[in-house]
Amino acid sequence: MSDKTHIPQTEPFRWEGIPLLAYKEESGSHFKSITRQVLFDDGEHFDTQLRYFEIAPGGHSTLERHDHAHSVMVIRGAGSALVGGDVFKLALRDLVRVPPGTWHQFRATGGEPLGFLCLVRRERDKPRVPTKEELAELRADPKVGGFIRA
Ligand code: MN
Repeated sequence: MSDKTHIPQTEPFRWEGIPLLAYKEESGSHFKSITRQVLFDDGEHFDTQLRYFEIAPGGHSTLERHDHAHSVMVIRGAGSALVGGDVFKLALRDLVRVPPGTWHQFRATGGEPLGFLCLVRRERDKPRVPTKEELAELRADPKVGGFIRA
């Protein structure tokens, strides 16, 4: 991780020396067309990481939950999200809170990528995807069932 005090943007939504990574290292969880950049990861001074995720048009994040929370700000494009039982539209600079233990998924629904900053604890548990039974429960709510991709 860079210890530079200024990290310029080199092109829109890309920063000097910050690698463009796959969304997740592990395979097997269902997601589509996402990149990840870790913007801040200074373990000496902070217990948090700030990441930038970008979902290509038509793509989506994994439907998952975990014991850690997310604080999200949309900084590019538009989309929709599921958090718990709520499905809502996302506009530029909207904020999203994902409390611990809450099912969540993001989708890019516009013509450009959906890009968002996501703040997390550095030490955190691994995301979990729904079991068949949990998926059936989620799908029992038509609003949620119509939204999720799994
Ligand atoms: Mn998550």
